[in-house]
Amino acid sequence: MNIGVLAVQGAFIEHEKMLSELGVSSFEIRQKADLSKSFDGIIIPGGESTVQGKLLKELDMFDEIKTAIESGVPVFGTCAGLILLAKSIANDKNTYFGTMDTVAVRNAYGRQLGSFHTDSEFKGIGTVPMTFIRAPYISSVGEGVDVLAEVDGKIVAARQGNQLATAFHPELDNDLRIHEYFVNMINNR
Ligand code: GLN
Repeated sequence: MNIGVLAVQGAFIEHEKMLSELGVSSFEIRQKADLSKSFDGIIIPGGESTVQGKLLKELDMFDEIKTAIESGVPVFGTCAGLILLAKSIANDKNTYFGTMDTVAVRNAYGRQLGSFHTDSEFKGIGTVPMTFIRAPYISSVGEGVDVLAEVDGKIVAARQGNQLATAFHPELDNDLRIHEYFVNMINNR
């Protein structure tokens, strides 16, 4: 298995570390040529969704990644990645991949712009540590979307078929189970 980690901006190295701890190989998607490598899944890290969206277009990678997701390649978006996958963004006129039937709200969860940490239930896994950094949440989901975690009544993790999104950053905590969940999504494809 080989997972491509989008590495144009944001917290991608932390994802690579998690994958390597799981014994899964990964490579960085920095430019269009990297997309010619074979990959079984894609991780879109946290960072700044506007910057990532802009760079993906400037580097001419946007359409190819979107097509890969639409064709069923498993994708895991954390934080900014959740925003890039959302069908629409409640407080932003932009839409990026829009492949997940979710509405995201940017910079809006809980204690607004600050960072915070909690432990909460993740469906199918149990209680996991959750680190939020200027996080989004999902305000609504379509029919095919399974809500996997909620904190304070807000959806913070969801899955739709091959797509997994978390508002928090599992790559920043010492718990491999959410990355393992994603690896299982790839294995069970
Ligand atoms: N606030 C960022 C955005 O709107 C997301 C924050 C993050 O990825 N940690 O894109």
